[in-house]
Amino acid sequence: MSENQDQMSAKEKTLFGKEKNPSSIMPKKLTLDSMIQFRCHPGVSCFTACCGGIKIVLTPYDILVLSKRLGIEAHEFLHQYTTPTYLEKTDMPGVMIKMREEDNKCPFVTPDGCTVYSDRPSACRYYPVGMADFHEGGTKDASGNEVHGADDKFFFVVKEDYCKGHEEDKTWTVKEWREDQGIDVRDEMNREWLRLVMRRKSHGHQATLSEQGKRMFFMASTDLQHFKRFIFESSFLDTYVVDEETIQKIKEDDVELMHFSFKYLASSLFGVQFPELQIKEEKIKAKVSEMKTKQDDSVLQAIRQYEDLKADIDSMKPENKK
Ligand code: SF4
Ligand code: SF4
Repeated sequence: MSENQDQMSAKEKTLFGKEKNPSSIMPKKLTLDSMIQFRCHPGVSCFTACCGGIKIVLTPYDILVLSKRLGIEAHEFLHQYTTPTYLEKTDMPGVMIKMREEDNKCPFVTPDGCTVYSDRPSACRYYPVGMADFHEGGTKDASGNEVHGADDKFFFVVKEDYCKGHEEDKTWTVKEWREDQGIDVRDEMNREWLRLVMRRKSHGHQATLSEQGKRMFFMASTDLQHFKRFIFESSFLDTYVVDEETIQKIKEDDVELMHFSFKYLASSLFGVQFPELQIKEEKIKAKVSEMKTKQDDSVLQAIRQYEDLKADIDSMKPENKK
C-alpha cells in the first residue's frame, strides 16, 4: 500500500459515527455535558494538517451549500471538486472531496486555512468529536471493546498523533463545542439522509439495490436541480399525489426540496409511507393488474413446462414404446 493510500485509510473526517482507524478513538463515552480539551486555530503547529490525504464524504446539504458558496451548479461542483465513493460499506453511491493532484490536499485549503470555512462540510465540523447514534452496534475502542450499544447516542473523541489541538488549554463541554462548530444545524439537515444510509447498511448485502435505485439515490442526494427536473418534468406528478403547499415549497426552497428528496428515497427504496407523498390509487391498481398479468403469464408458462415434461415421461413408458 502506498503512503497516500495508507494515510487515506487512516484519516477520515467521519460522518457516520465510525472512524476508519479505531485505535484513534478514545474509549470514553461522552455526553453533551462532558468536558473536552481541544482548540483548533491558525497558531497550532499542525494547522491544516488534517486537510490533506483524507476522505471527506459530502452530504446532500454540504453539496447544496458549497455549490451556492462557489456560485456554480451542483453538477459542475460534482465534476470539479468531487470523486465517487460508496457510503459506509454499502452499495449506495455518494461523493467525497477530490484531493488536489499536485499535493493530495483539499482543494479548499491554503496556508491561511480553509477558504470555505463558514460553509465547510459537515465532516470537517464534526472532527474530532464523533457521534454514534445510528444503530450500528459496532464501534470498538483501541482494546477491541464495544464502546456503545445498539440504540444509545453518545460522543467520542478522535485523537490522532498529528493533531495538536488536544494539547491546547481550552476546555469546554461537548455541547458548547458543537454549538461553536454549527453542528446542530448540520445534524438536522443530514439526519434523514444518514438514516437512509444506515438503514441500507443494516440490511446488509442480502438484497442488493437495483441499478435504477442506485442511480436515483445518487441523483437525488447529489444534484437537487436534476431531482427538481425529475419531479416537474417527468411523469412523477402523474404517479404521486403531492399537495399544492408541498409543491410550492419545493419549487421555491432548495432545503425543502432536499427534505422532500429524502422522503422520496425512503418511500421508493424502502417503502416508507408519508402522508404528503402518496402513490395515486389508479397507479396502484395498474401495478397490481400488471403484477397479476405477469403472475398469470408465469403460471401459464409453468403449466406448459409441466405438460411438456409429462409428455416426455409418458413417451418413455414401456407401454407407449413400440
Ligand atoms: S473543506 Fe476546509 S476544513 Fe474541510 S478539509 Fe477542506 S480545507 Fe479543510
Ligand atoms: S489542531 Fe487538529 S483539527 Fe486543527 S488543524 Fe491541527 S490537525 Fe487539524
